[in-house]
Amino acid sequence: RAKQAGKGTYVLYGQNMQRHFDERMIVEKHLRGAIDNNELFLNYQPKVYLHTGELWGFEALIRWNSPDLGFVSPLSFIRIAEDCRLIVPIGEWVLRRACLFLAGLHRQGRGPYHISVNISVIQLLLADFADTVLRILRETGLDPRYLELEITESIFMESFEEISTKLEYLKKWGIGIALDDFGTGYSSLSYLKQLPITTLKIDKSFIDSIPDENSSMPLAGSIIAIGHDMGLSVTAEGVETKEQLDFLETMKCDKVQGYYISRPIPENQVKSWIRQYEQEKLDAREPKRKSK
Ligand code: C2E
Ligand code: MG
Ligand code: MG
Ligand code: MG
Repeated sequence: RAKQAGKGTYVLYGQNMQRHFDERMIVEKHLRGAIDNNELFLNYQPKVYLHTGELWGFEALIRWNSPDLGFVSPLSFIRIAEDCRLIVPIGEWVLRRACLFLAGLHRQGRGPYHISVNISVIQLLLADFADTVLRILRETGLDPRYLELEITESIFMESFEEISTKLEYLKKWGIGIALDDFGTGYSSLSYLKQLPITTLKIDKSFIDSIPDENSSMPLAGSIIAIGHDMGLSVTAEGVETKEQLDFLETMKCDKVQGYYISRPIPENQVKSWIRQYEQEKLDAREPKRKSK
């Protein structure tokens, strides 16, 4: 395509591609040592039950603070990590770290809360993926029913059967499976029915469109209904306003997550966040109880 656009364009295009390539090489080079150099850490974003306000648990979100590159967003480095397969050790590190942290909270008598971990399709394609997950649960002492794996619709473009079988097996152990960013990818409803998932996570883009003046009911409402028809729990991500929360409550969405509840929290602040949240939540509910 670049060639057809003429000689000059080709050179420019080529240079951009070279720069893009160089950037990826630099990120890859620095990412290689990131685990061993303790440059990776996790933030935890709360998920709460909409109906009761009860804390369900957290989603683990990776952060990378590179001494040379500064903070790099997962939106840019996860793709690169997938392409060079560094996502395999990184993904395992995330899983172990998140399970360890939650198991620690449980041992201290908190919760028990759940933990969601984002899993790349590259990890799901590994022959020993299920074994790795179960081994990490054993090693960290986290009860499988408090772990949820977040997968994306990109699995529909891969060996669907193979991935399905593994997820089915993990689900039998009590592990939850959430389909993340739902509505943005490639799933057809007939495939969705065959996938052993427990939760639909409505993508933020559908939440952003609440309120929507152009439509009688934002699409989020229909997605919640579909999820419930399929017997799934439905979570909304990227909830930023009271208006969105109220709409989701009317539509009987099960769980919510987003800046309106909390931004992702560094590990060492999670306990104090929980303490404060539990207090505020109880305070907020007090008048309701009295009126009943
Ligand atoms: P995701 O799993 O869909 O996570 C949601 C993203 O939206 C997170 O960005 C979160 O910080 C952000 N977010 C949450 N609530 C709000 C809100 O109310 N408003 C706005 N504007 N944003 C909100 P983050 O942490 O930058 O992560 C981006 C993506 O990177 C994630 O999207 C996920 O796909 C990927 N990712 C993050 N951690 C991991 C990981 O450990 N493994 C893998 N494979 N992917 C990860
Ligand atoms: Mg996610
Ligand atoms: Mg998401
Ligand atoms: Mg998203």
